[in-house]
Amino acid sequence: MKTAQILSKAREEKRTVLTEIEAKQILGEAGINCTPTVLAESKEKAVSICDEIGYPVVLKVSSVDITHKSDAGGVKVNLQNREAVEKAYDDIMTSCRAYAPDANIEGVAVQGMAKIGTEIIMGMIKDASFGPVVMFGLGGVLVEVLKDVSFRIVPIEKADAEEMTSEIQGKKLLAGYRGNDPADVPYLQEMLVKLSDFVNATPGIEEIDMNPVFAYKEGAVVVDARIILS
Ligand code: ADP
Ligand code: MG
Repeated sequence: MKTAQILSKAREEKRTVLTEIEAKQILGEAGINCTPTVLAESKEKAVSICDEIGYPVVLKVSSVDITHKSDAGGVKVNLQNREAVEKAYDDIMTSCRAYAPDANIEGVAVQGMAKIGTEIIMGMIKDASFGPVVMFGLGGVLVEVLKDVSFRIVPIEKADAEEMTSEIQGKKLLAGYRGNDPADVPYLQEMLVKLSDFVNATPGIEEIDMNPVFAYKEGAVVVDARIILS
């Protein structure tokens, strides 16, 4: 489905939350690289998709009522074979139903296991006085504990994105540390500009959360995305 269709479908259904699959589809159309992710409405479908895309894979609960999927026991990573997928599917359903008994669960989102990179977060929030602002930061424990993030008002240009990636306190981590690969910073800057361009061109979006993005020596990929509509 195209962005416009996804947005109008959500509005018809009177919901403000998009699924990870919808969010990645929209961001992908905006030129932002996301892990290809497809919906499986049943265990059998999940297995056949995994056989097709190849192992290892990741299964995540797909429900607009469960936005923090790990909290619900809704994420199973690094599944190596059919048996693991079947068990993960059952485990996800059991724990998500216990966590949110009224949640409407459409199935699981299936995706390949992405190679681990430097964990980044990017997103957009609406500031009460400035309107949409884009955000960049280091992911994982660093963002949770230190809130090491940088913001700019939309729209941004390349020079703004360059400031964003250079003003975070943990910027040394982007250059590689203890044998880890450096992150492709120019690529991340381009992603920020694409995100800003998309937000600027698309009214009615309240919040975007890409967490985590894995950054590599070359390129980067969004492995989880959330979009909230106004
Ligand atoms: P949540 O809704 O809890 O934020 P995520 O989709 O972010 O769920 O998944 C939780 C964690 O699982 C991520 O932070 C990441 O470390 C890992 N993960 C998720 N998807 C993938 C993937 N495709 N490849 C590798 N790791 C993944
Ligand atoms: Mg996440």
